[in-house]
Amino acid sequence: MADEQSGDGKQQRSGRGISRRGLLIGGAVTVGAGATLFHEELGRLWWRVPGIDKQRNDGDVDHAGAQWIAASEANLRYADRPADFTVDRVVIHVTEGSYATAVRVFRDPLHAAAAHYLIRGKDGHIAQMARELDVAFHAGNRSYNERSIGIEHEGFVDKPETLTDVMYRSSARLTADICARYEIPVDRKHIIGHNEVPDATHTDPGPHWDWDKYIRLVRAAAKDGAKDKA
Ligand SMILES: [Zn+2]
Repeated sequence: MADEQSGDGKQQRSGRGISRRGLLIGGAVTVGAGATLFHEELGRLWWRVPGIDKQRNDGDVDHAGAQWIAASEANLRYADRPADFTVDRVVIHVTEGSYATAVRVFRDPLHAAAAHYLIRGKDGHIAQMARELDVAFHAGNRSYNERSIGIEHEGFVDKPETLTDVMYRSSARLTADICARYEIPVDRKHIIGHNEVPDATHTDPGPHWDWDKYIRLVRAAAKDGAKDKA
């Protein structure tokens, strides 16, 4: 699961439950209108944002076939990667909840976290929720957020049956694509679990995540990708 703060995710969730409910009842309209205005202004004024010169179009995705579902702008920081930060890590997460719940919380401006990608268990469908240009708050560590792409997988760390083969394969194609585009070596030093991020307080993707299988699939997908380009 993604989080930017170093605190325990469960505590954050229960601690915020009341205020989120309050917001839905009391302030949703105001917040929604503000967010829309903000977004429209950004759409027109990108060229004025210091250090950001890349063209952005609504709905653009970085991985072919991904579905764009924008995370809340509060759960990421606009950037211009890899011009401003070198991208050299892929961080693997497991959501500890359903795909629908992950979409909802990443779109929630109070969640303080989102990943770049979210993959669905039943069919391997990929949602892209933050552009790779931007720093998504998923690793719980500022420098690792800045240097990495975060991929969430629908499932539970203590339920290996939720980590489906179709999800592994879809994720492996995505990671192979990311590694090719940023010239990231396909190995366990550069493709890491959230639990391996320095000072990580999260345990995902957990003991049932099959790293041998995953790296093998990423390498196979990388080979296929290279063949397609040749
Ligand atoms: Zn995580």
